[in-house]
Amino acid sequence: MIEFMQVNKAFGDHPAVKNLSLRLEEGAFSVLIGTSGSGKSTTLKMINRLVEPDSGIIHFSGQDIRELPLLALRRRMGYAIQSIGLFPHWTVAQNIATVPQLLKWPKAKTNARIDELMALLGLEPDLRARYPHQLSGGQQQRVGVARALAGDPEVLLMDEPFGALDPVTRGALQQEMRRIHQLLGRTIVLVTHDIDEALRLADNLILMDGGEVVQQGTPLSMLSAPGSEFARRFFGHSELGVRLLSLRRVADYARPDENVQGEPLADTLSLRDALSGFMTQRRTVLPVVDSQGRPCGSLHFSDLLREEPNDARAP
Ligand code: ADP
Ligand code: MG
Repeated sequence: MIEFMQVNKAFGDHPAVKNLSLRLEEGAFSVLIGTSGSGKSTTLKMINRLVEPDSGIIHFSGQDIRELPLLALRRRMGYAIQSIGLFPHWTVAQNIATVPQLLKWPKAKTNARIDELMALLGLEPDLRARYPHQLSGGQQQRVGVARALAGDPEVLLMDEPFGALDPVTRGALQQEMRRIHQLLGRTIVLVTHDIDEALRLADNLILMDGGEVVQQGTPLSMLSAPGSEFARRFFGHSELGVRLLSLRRVADYARPDENVQGEPLADTLSLRDALSGFMTQRRTVLPVVDSQGRPCGSLHFSDLLREEPNDARAP
Protein backbone atom coordinates (compact mmCIF):
# COMPACT_ATOMS: atom_id res chain seq x y z
CA MET A 1 0.00 0.00 0.00
CA ILE A 2 2.87 2.36 0.84
CA GLU A 3 6.23 1.85 -0.76
CA PHE A 4 9.46 3.82 -0.36
CA MET A 5 11.99 3.41 -3.14
CA GLN A 6 15.53 4.62 -2.42
CA VAL A 7 14.34 7.66 -0.54
CA ASN A 8 16.82 10.18 0.88
CA LYS A 9 16.24 13.19 3.09
CA ALA A 10 18.84 15.46 4.69
CA PHE A 11 18.44 18.54 6.85
CA GLY A 12 21.36 20.81 5.90
CA ASP A 13 24.23 18.38 5.49
CA HIS A 14 22.83 16.02 8.13
CA PRO A 15 21.20 12.95 6.57
CA ALA A 16 17.96 12.00 8.39
CA VAL A 17 16.87 9.15 6.09
CA LYS A 18 19.34 7.26 3.88
CA ASN A 19 18.47 5.32 0.76
CA LEU A 20 15.31 3.96 2.36
CA SER A 21 13.40 1.17 0.62
CA LEU A 22 10.41 -0.10 2.52
CA ARG A 23 7.03 -1.73 1.87
CA LEU A 24 4.08 -1.27 4.21
CA GLU A 25 1.30 -3.70 3.38
CA GLU A 26 -2.37 -2.83 3.16
CA GLY A 27 -4.30 -3.61 6.34
CA ALA A 28 -1.15 -4.20 8.42
CA PHE A 29 -0.29 -2.54 11.71
CA SER A 30 3.26 -1.40 10.94
CA VAL A 31 5.42 0.04 13.70
CA LEU A 32 8.61 2.05 13.11
CA ILE A 33 10.89 1.70 16.10
CA GLY A 34 14.36 3.01 16.87
CA THR A 35 16.27 5.34 19.14
CA SER A 36 15.65 9.07 19.11
CA GLY A 37 16.97 10.69 15.93
CA SER A 38 16.93 7.45 13.90
CA GLY A 39 14.64 8.99 11.25
CA LYS A 40 11.26 7.52 12.25
CA SER A 41 9.25 10.75 12.28
CA THR A 42 10.89 11.98 9.08
CA THR A 43 9.90 8.70 7.40
CA LEU A 44 6.31 9.02 8.62
CA LYS A 45 6.00 12.67 7.57
CA MET A 46 7.18 11.89 4.06
CA ILE A 47 4.12 9.64 3.64
CA ASN A 48 1.68 12.58 3.95
CA ARG A 49 4.17 15.05 2.47
CA LEU A 50 4.72 17.08 5.61
CA VAL A 51 8.34 16.51 4.61
CA GLU A 52 9.43 16.22 0.97
CA PRO A 53 12.24 13.76 0.10
CA ASP A 54 15.42 15.03 -1.60
CA SER A 55 15.41 11.99 -3.88
CA GLY A 56 13.63 8.70 -4.38
CA ILE A 57 9.97 7.81 -4.92
CA ILE A 58 7.09 7.04 -2.58
CA HIS A 59 4.03 5.17 -3.83
CA PHE A 60 0.62 5.14 -2.19
CA SER A 61 -1.78 2.52 -3.60
CA GLY A 62 0.44 2.23 -6.64
CA GLN A 63 0.62 5.97 -7.38
CA ASP A 64 3.55 8.36 -6.92
CA ILE A 65 2.44 10.63 -4.06
CA ARG A 66 3.84 13.69 -5.88
CA GLU A 67 1.28 13.13 -8.61
CA LEU A 68 -1.65 13.31 -6.20
CA PRO A 69 -3.09 16.69 -5.18
CA LEU A 70 -1.78 17.45 -1.66
CA LEU A 71 -5.20 17.96 -0.07
CA ALA A 72 -6.65 14.82 -1.61
CA LEU A 73 -3.64 12.86 -0.34
CA ARG A 74 -3.95 14.22 3.21
CA ARG A 75 -7.68 13.44 3.32
CA ARG A 76 -6.90 9.81 2.63
CA MET A 77 -4.51 9.75 5.61
CA GLY A 78 -5.38 10.39 9.26
CA TYR A 79 -2.54 11.82 11.34
CA ALA A 80 -2.29 11.67 15.13
CA ILE A 81 0.66 12.94 17.15
CA GLN A 82 1.74 13.14 20.78
CA SER A 83 1.18 16.86 21.26
CA ILE A 84 -2.27 16.20 19.88
CA GLY A 85 -2.90 19.75 18.78
CA LEU A 86 -6.61 19.74 19.59
CA PHE A 87 -8.11 23.15 18.94
CA PRO A 88 -8.46 24.62 22.46
CA HIS A 89 -11.54 26.75 21.75
CA TRP A 90 -13.42 23.94 20.03
CA THR A 91 -15.45 21.32 21.85
CA VAL A 92 -14.72 17.61 21.62
CA ALA A 93 -17.45 17.25 18.98
CA GLN A 94 -16.11 20.17 16.93
CA ASN A 95 -12.58 18.80 17.12
CA ILE A 96 -13.66 15.36 15.93
CA ALA A 97 -15.67 16.97 13.12
CA THR A 98 -12.68 18.86 11.67
CA VAL A 99 -12.33 16.74 8.53
CA PRO A 100 -16.07 16.06 7.97
CA GLN A 101 -16.55 19.87 8.08
CA LEU A 102 -13.80 20.37 5.51
CA LEU A 103 -15.46 17.73 3.36
CA LYS A 104 -18.81 19.53 3.85
CA TRP A 105 -20.61 16.44 5.10
CA PRO A 106 -24.30 16.97 5.92
CA LYS A 107 -24.88 17.77 9.60
CA ALA A 108 -26.70 14.52 10.39
CA LYS A 109 -23.93 12.40 8.87
CA THR A 110 -21.27 14.35 10.80
CA ASN A 111 -23.18 13.98 14.07
CA ALA A 112 -23.64 10.27 13.55
CA ARG A 113 -19.92 9.94 12.83
CA ILE A 114 -19.02 11.83 16.03
CA ASP A 115 -21.25 9.48 18.09
CA GLU A 116 -19.82 6.42 16.38
CA LEU A 117 -16.20 7.46 16.95
CA MET A 118 -16.74 8.49 20.56
CA ALA A 119 -18.24 5.04 21.24
CA LEU A 120 -15.40 3.35 19.38
CA LEU A 121 -12.77 5.19 21.43
CA GLY A 122 -14.60 4.67 24.72
CA LEU A 123 -15.47 8.36 25.23
CA GLU A 124 -18.66 8.98 27.23
CA PRO A 125 -21.34 10.89 25.25
CA ASP A 126 -21.45 13.67 27.90
CA LEU A 127 -17.88 14.65 26.93
CA ARG A 128 -19.20 15.91 23.58
CA ALA A 129 -19.56 19.53 24.68
CA ARG A 130 -16.38 19.74 26.77
CA TYR A 131 -13.28 21.68 25.81
CA PRO A 132 -9.84 20.02 25.62
CA HIS A 133 -8.63 21.57 28.91
CA GLN A 134 -11.56 19.87 30.67
CA LEU A 135 -10.31 16.40 29.67
CA SER A 136 -7.65 14.08 31.09
CA GLY A 137 -4.54 13.37 29.02
CA GLY A 138 -5.91 9.97 28.03
CA GLN A 139 -9.24 11.44 26.94
CA GLN A 140 -7.48 14.14 24.88
CA GLN A 141 -5.45 11.46 23.16
CA ARG A 142 -8.62 9.47 22.40
CA VAL A 143 -10.18 12.59 20.88
CA GLY A 144 -7.00 13.04 18.81
CA VAL A 145 -7.34 9.51 17.45
CA ALA A 146 -11.09 9.95 16.84
CA ARG A 147 -10.36 13.15 14.90
CA ALA A 148 -7.72 11.35 12.81
CA LEU A 149 -10.24 8.61 11.96
CA ALA A 150 -13.19 10.93 11.30
CA GLY A 151 -12.84 11.30 7.54
CA ASP A 152 -12.60 7.50 7.20
CA PRO A 153 -8.99 7.63 5.96
CA GLU A 154 -7.37 4.70 4.20
CA VAL A 155 -4.28 5.02 6.40
CA LEU A 156 -3.77 6.14 9.97
CA LEU A 157 -0.34 7.68 10.67
CA MET A 158 0.57 7.98 14.36
CA ASP A 159 3.71 9.55 15.82
CA GLU A 160 4.36 8.58 19.47
CA PRO A 161 0.64 9.08 20.09
CA PHE A 162 0.70 7.73 23.64
CA GLY A 163 4.09 9.15 24.62
CA ALA A 164 2.86 11.56 27.26
CA LEU A 165 0.52 9.18 29.09
CA ASP A 166 0.96 7.24 32.34
CA PRO A 167 1.59 3.48 31.92
CA VAL A 168 -1.98 2.41 32.81
CA THR A 169 -3.74 4.83 30.42
CA ARG A 170 -1.15 4.04 27.82
CA GLY A 171 -1.77 0.29 28.13
CA ALA A 172 -5.53 0.85 27.84
CA LEU A 173 -5.13 2.94 24.67
CA GLN A 174 -2.76 0.39 23.15
CA GLN A 175 -5.40 -2.30 23.66
CA GLU A 176 -7.98 0.05 22.15
CA MET A 177 -5.82 0.59 19.06
CA ARG A 178 -5.34 -3.17 18.55
CA ARG A 179 -9.09 -3.66 18.83
CA ILE A 180 -9.85 -0.78 16.43
CA HIS A 181 -7.30 -2.13 13.99
CA GLN A 182 -8.90 -5.58 14.05
CA LEU A 183 -12.36 -4.08 13.75
CA LEU A 184 -11.69 -1.62 10.92
CA GLY A 185 -8.88 -3.52 9.19
CA ARG A 186 -7.33 -0.16 8.39
CA THR A 187 -3.65 0.29 7.50
CA ILE A 188 -1.82 1.84 10.45
CA VAL A 189 1.73 3.17 10.62
CA LEU A 190 2.85 4.04 14.14
CA VAL A 191 6.15 5.50 15.34
CA THR A 192 7.45 4.75 18.82
CA HIS A 193 10.67 4.35 20.75
CA ASP A 194 8.95 2.11 23.33
CA ILE A 195 9.92 -1.52 22.70
CA ASP A 196 7.07 -3.13 24.62
CA GLU A 197 4.52 -0.88 22.89
CA ALA A 198 5.97 -1.90 19.53
CA LEU A 199 5.89 -5.60 20.38
CA ARG A 200 2.32 -5.36 21.62
CA LEU A 201 0.97 -3.56 18.56
CA ALA A 202 2.95 -4.53 15.49
CA ASP A 203 2.15 -7.09 12.82
CA ASN A 204 5.11 -5.67 10.99
CA LEU A 205 8.01 -4.18 12.92
CA ILE A 206 10.63 -1.96 11.28
CA LEU A 207 13.76 -1.30 13.29
CA MET A 208 15.59 1.90 12.24
CA ASP A 209 19.02 3.23 13.10
CA GLY A 210 20.85 6.22 11.64
CA GLY A 211 18.18 6.82 8.99
CA GLU A 212 18.30 3.23 7.73
CA VAL A 213 16.17 0.12 8.19
CA VAL A 214 18.18 -2.36 10.22
CA GLN A 215 15.62 -5.19 10.20
CA GLN A 216 11.96 -5.75 9.36
CA GLY A 217 9.64 -8.62 10.33
CA THR A 218 7.09 -9.85 12.83
CA PRO A 219 7.86 -9.14 16.50
CA LEU A 220 8.36 -12.87 17.08
CA SER A 221 10.84 -13.24 14.22
CA MET A 222 12.76 -10.13 15.33
CA LEU A 223 13.11 -11.33 18.91
CA SER A 224 13.86 -14.94 18.10
CA ALA A 225 16.37 -14.05 15.40
CA PRO A 226 17.81 -10.55 15.87
CA GLY A 227 19.78 -9.98 12.68
CA SER A 228 22.60 -8.00 14.20
CA GLU A 229 24.35 -7.12 17.43
CA PHE A 230 22.56 -3.74 17.27
CA ALA A 231 19.13 -5.43 17.10
CA ARG A 232 20.03 -7.75 19.99
CA ARG A 233 21.21 -4.82 22.12
CA PHE A 234 18.22 -2.70 21.15
CA PHE A 235 15.68 -5.30 22.24
CA GLY A 236 17.60 -5.70 25.50
CA HIS A 237 20.02 -8.60 25.80
CA SER A 238 18.88 -9.59 29.26
CA GLU A 239 15.17 -9.03 28.65
CA LEU A 240 15.02 -10.71 25.26
CA GLY A 241 13.86 -13.95 26.89
CA VAL A 242 10.91 -12.49 28.82
CA ARG A 243 9.90 -10.35 25.87
CA LEU A 244 9.80 -13.47 23.74
CA LEU A 245 7.65 -15.19 26.38
CA SER A 246 5.22 -12.28 26.27
CA LEU A 247 4.55 -12.95 22.57
CA ARG A 248 3.70 -16.63 23.10
CA ARG A 249 0.28 -17.94 24.20
CA VAL A 250 -0.33 -20.57 26.86
CA ALA A 251 -2.81 -22.27 24.48
CA ASP A 252 -0.02 -23.08 22.03
CA TYR A 253 2.25 -24.70 24.63
CA ALA A 254 -0.18 -26.51 26.92
CA ARG A 255 -0.35 -30.32 27.17
CA PRO A 256 -3.54 -32.38 27.18
CA ASP A 257 -3.05 -33.96 30.65
CA GLU A 258 -5.53 -32.80 33.29
CA ASN A 259 -6.13 -33.24 37.03
CA VAL A 260 -3.26 -30.92 37.95
CA GLN A 261 -3.41 -28.95 41.22
CA GLY A 262 -3.06 -25.17 41.49
CA GLU A 263 -4.62 -21.87 40.52
CA PRO A 264 -5.39 -22.33 36.79
CA LEU A 265 -3.90 -20.30 33.92
CA ALA A 266 -6.28 -19.01 31.24
CA ASP A 267 -5.18 -20.35 27.85
CA THR A 268 -5.27 -16.81 26.42
CA LEU A 269 -2.49 -15.64 28.77
CA SER A 270 1.08 -15.17 27.56
CA LEU A 271 3.91 -17.41 28.68
CA ARG A 272 5.25 -14.36 30.52
CA ASP A 273 2.10 -14.38 32.67
CA ALA A 274 2.49 -18.13 33.12
CA LEU A 275 6.04 -17.59 34.36
CA SER A 276 4.79 -15.35 37.13
CA GLY A 277 2.08 -17.94 37.92
CA PHE A 278 4.76 -20.60 38.42
CA MET A 279 6.83 -18.27 40.59
CA THR A 280 4.03 -16.95 42.82
CA GLN A 281 2.46 -20.39 43.32
CA ARG A 282 5.85 -22.12 43.66
CA ARG A 283 4.71 -24.93 41.37
CA THR A 284 6.25 -26.42 38.24
CA VAL A 285 2.96 -27.61 36.68
CA LEU A 286 -0.30 -25.65 36.50
CA PRO A 287 -3.76 -26.47 35.14
CA VAL A 288 -4.97 -24.57 32.07
CA VAL A 289 -8.57 -23.46 31.44
CA ASP A 290 -10.30 -22.21 28.29
CA SER A 291 -12.28 -18.98 27.92
CA GLN A 292 -15.32 -20.59 29.58
CA GLY A 293 -13.21 -21.64 32.55
CA ARG A 294 -13.29 -25.33 31.58
CA PRO A 295 -10.12 -27.39 32.28
CA CYS A 296 -8.31 -28.02 29.00
CA GLY A 297 -4.86 -29.28 29.97
CA SER A 298 -1.75 -28.25 31.83
CA LEU A 299 1.42 -26.25 31.38
CA HIS A 300 4.79 -27.44 32.67
CA PHE A 301 7.55 -25.05 33.67
CA SER A 302 9.81 -26.75 31.12
CA ASP A 303 7.32 -25.85 28.36
CA LEU A 304 8.56 -22.25 28.70
CA LEU A 305 11.89 -23.40 27.28
CA ARG A 306 10.44 -25.00 24.16
CA GLU A 307 11.30 -23.24 20.92
CA GLU A 308 8.28 -24.53 18.99
CA PRO A 309 4.58 -24.52 19.88
CA ASN A 310 2.52 -27.74 19.85
CA ASP A 311 2.12 -29.32 16.42
CA ALA A 312 -1.50 -30.22 16.99
CA ARG A 313 -3.06 -26.92 17.97
CA ALA A 314 -6.47 -26.92 19.54
CA PRO A 315 -9.10 -25.98 16.94
P1 ADP B 1 13.10 10.23 15.25
O1 ADP B 1 11.68 10.48 14.98
O2 ADP B 1 13.53 8.83 14.99
O3 ADP B 1 13.51 10.65 16.63
P2 ADP B 1 13.57 12.27 13.26
O4 ADP B 1 13.08 11.70 12.00
O5 ADP B 1 12.71 13.25 13.96
O6 ADP B 1 13.99 11.09 14.25
O7 ADP B 1 14.96 12.97 13.01
C1 ADP B 1 16.03 12.37 12.29
C2 ADP B 1 17.19 13.35 12.26
O8 ADP B 1 16.83 14.49 11.49
C3 ADP B 1 17.59 13.86 13.61
O9 ADP B 1 18.97 14.00 13.65
C4 ADP B 1 16.90 15.21 13.70
O10 ADP B 1 17.60 16.09 14.53
C5 ADP B 1 16.92 15.67 12.26
N1 ADP B 1 15.74 16.53 11.95
C6 ADP B 1 14.46 16.10 11.94
N2 ADP B 1 13.63 17.11 11.58
C7 ADP B 1 14.41 18.19 11.36
C8 ADP B 1 14.16 19.54 10.96
N3 ADP B 1 12.91 19.97 10.69
N4 ADP B 1 15.22 20.37 10.84
C9 ADP B 1 16.48 19.93 11.08
N5 ADP B 1 16.79 18.69 11.45
C10 ADP B 1 15.79 17.81 11.60
MG1 MG C 1 10.21 11.28 16.28
